[in-house]
Amino acid sequence: MITRIPDVNSVRASLQEFSRPLALVPTMGALHEGHLALIREARKQVGSKGTVVVSIFVNPIQFDRASDLSSYLQPLEEDLARCEAEGVEIAFIPDKSELYHDDRSILVTESLLTKHLCGATRPSHFDGVLTIVLKLFNIFQPEVAIFGNKDFQQLAIIRRMVRDLNVPVKITGHPTVRQNDGLALSSRNSRLSPEQRQDAPRIRRALKAARDLNGNGEQKPEVYLEAARKHLLSDAPEDFSIDYLQLVDAETLQPVPKVNRPAVLATACFYGDIRLIDHIKIRM
Ligand code: AMP
Repeated sequence: MITRIPDVNSVRASLQEFSRPLALVPTMGALHEGHLALIREARKQVGSKGTVVVSIFVNPIQFDRASDLSSYLQPLEEDLARCEAEGVEIAFIPDKSELYHDDRSILVTESLLTKHLCGATRPSHFDGVLTIVLKLFNIFQPEVAIFGNKDFQQLAIIRRMVRDLNVPVKITGHPTVRQNDGLALSSRNSRLSPEQRQDAPRIRRALKAARDLNGNGEQKPEVYLEAARKHLLSDAPEDFSIDYLQLVDAETLQPVPKVNRPAVLATACFYGDIRLIDHIKIRM
């Protein structure tokens, strides 16, 4: 485990001397099978001679709600045991003060792909994400970094940052890991009550039911959105609400007037104050 940046620098220098590739898996901890799948992908990418780094940092500047930040689980010992079991060489677990100066005054901002979806309902969230990801890239200078497609808007803006700022790192996305009933794994799932947990696969079912309309060649976005909304809300528990439900172009992430190209139907929903996201591709 490494907590200080100067220690990273000396490890990095010796790896470079021996041309050992480094793969980075940025996380906020509370590791689950979704994170472990990313770690295994990282190992696949750099091989047994390479180094896999997992960063665990609950990045305060990407939280738009104080209650979400304060309730975020930090089971450090379990996380370290999971990293060890997966053969991770370095777990980077810095303090906030190691990464952020009190008078910091630079943020990385993306201005197009963040206009909708989570970017619209979580102001400044993605500035926080891009800033920490770029900092981690600069600290570790990884050959490759692995991100989950579960956060597909996040993955898209990270790819855009790497492209637009010429960051020398290969970005690899990994498919969403789900439980048998379809619920996407998330660190936030463990905060759901048993009743909420049992109900939560409604999100996946709603997206699938709407997606299945594409078999009839349906092109009207409102038809997909209405179908998804109906399934999301039918017999939903009282504490369930929709944060957003949108149909966007799969590349530009802008709402589409007509579904005649690959699109993504995406939603964020609340059980009480627990926010869950999911999406589904609509192929035409
Ligand atoms: P987080 O710890 O939630 O910030 O997530 C760290 C990384 O794990 C991000 O790249 C996420 O997209 C990815 N991730 C989280 N949940 C899943 C999942 N169920 N399947 C695949 N990747 C995931």
